[in-house]
This record gives sequence, C-alpha cells and structure tokens, in this order.
Amino acid sequence: MKNYHTHTYRCKHAIGKEEDYIKNAIKAGYTELGFSDHAPWHYESSFHPTMRMEEDEIEGYVQTIRALKEKYEDQISIKIGFECEYFEDKMDWMRDIIKKYGLDYLILGNHYDESDEYGEYYGFPDKDLETVKKYVSQVIKGMETGLFSYVAHPDVIAYDQKDPRHLAEMEKICIKAKELDIPLEFNLLGFKTGRDYPSVPFFALCKKHNNRIIIGTDAHEPSALDDNRTYDEACYVINKLGLEKTEEIRFL
Ligand SMILES: [Zn+2]
Ligand SMILES: [Zn+2]
Repeated sequence: MKNYHTHTYRCKHAIGKEEDYIKNAIKAGYTELGFSDHAPWHYESSFHPTMRMEEDEIEGYVQTIRALKEKYEDQISIKIGFECEYFEDKMDWMRDIIKKYGLDYLILGNHYDESDEYGEYYGFPDKDLETVKKYVSQVIKGMETGLFSYVAHPDVIAYDQKDPRHLAEMEKICIKAKELDIPLEFNLLGFKTGRDYPSVPFFALCKKHNNRIIIGTDAHEPSALDDNRTYDEACYVINKLGLEKTEEIRFL
C-alpha cells in the first residue's frame, strides 16, 4: 500500500504529529508514505490564508520530514511534496521552491479559482456551468505543466452530477489524464465523511476512458492512516465500478 496524500498541522486544519502519521502508516501496512501538505503561495499583498502553511514554514516542514524519513528508512519509504492548486501566475515561484527544497512530487488539488486571495472555493455548493468550465480548464492546464504526479479529488468541484453539460466538462479531465497518463484520485476523506466526492457519475467517466485510479487518504489526522476498513471499502467500490487501481506515480 502506498499513500501520497497526507497533511500536517501546518495547514491549520490537520492535527497530530508527523511521526504518528508515519507510525500508523507502518501499522496499517503502507510501504510508502508521501506528505503533501497544503502548499504555501507567495502573495504580493499581506494576505494570510487560513488553510495552508506560511512560506516561512516550508523549511521546518521539509527538515522535520527528512529527519523522520531517515529515522524510519528501514520500515517505510517517505516522500516529501505538496498538494497545491494550479495558480497560473504563481507557478514559476513554485518551480523555484521545488528546486530549492528538492521536493519529490506535487499533487494537484485545485481548491480555488486562480488564487485563494480573490478566487472562490470550488467545493461550495451549486456551481454553475461557467464555473465548472473554469475549474476544468485550470485542472487541464495544471496537468499540462508536467509538475503534478496526480490529480487529487478531481471531482471536488460542486458540479451538477445530473447535468450532462457539467458531465461533458468533467469528462475533459478524464480525457486529458488518459492522454498524459496521470492518475486520478479516489479521495478517502470525502468517501469516509460522505461528501459529494468521490462521485459515481465522474468515476463512471473514468471507467469509460480507462483512467488509472489512485487512492488518496487525504489524512488530516494520524488515525486516517490506520483506518484499513475505509480503505478496504473504497477498494470494494473501485472494483465494483470496474476501475483500474494504481499506486504508480511519476516523481519530479
Ligand atoms: Zn486539507
Ligand atoms: Zn485537497
């Protein structure tokens, strides 16, 4: 078992010590664990987001996990990355950060429209077609950068699951992911807490396009990692939908 979607307390809505996430992952049988906390961004203004780490926390994040990676190297492989959006005007800054800190990977979690300083949160209910189009085009541009190992909760946007026009937009994510061989995530946090994602109509499209599906625990607390029951239930659903499960991602 491998999991590349793990947060830390630095995002201000996750709890627990990094070491406890690792211990629980080992206990549950994971052989590889990737930390992908919500990435900071560089803002020109004095804006301070409430759901991600600050820029000056990157150093501590990377150092802490590197030290634990060494400590546990005989028991589990540890990777260091970020979950982040595709914010077009901030991607060069992110490329510099990747280089500076030698990050292993990014996953694309497109939570906000262009910026969380000005843009709306895509997960809030009842998005109209125009908003769905914008979300999809940003996810596609993100995939095209080659920076992202996979798309986290690709169906996080509150699209209308019964509207064929919305589904036709969402299908473009599946088509592009297939073309670029990028896995799409079946999000365990959404699954466990009964959110609108992972959504059956979207994953039916993934089946149609033979997308590779990766399970992401989206752990915001250590107990998410030794929750084998939720993991097994997700596997059952994935199999039932006839989806191809993968654990292979490309690193940076
Ligand atoms: Zn989060
Ligand atoms: Zn996310």
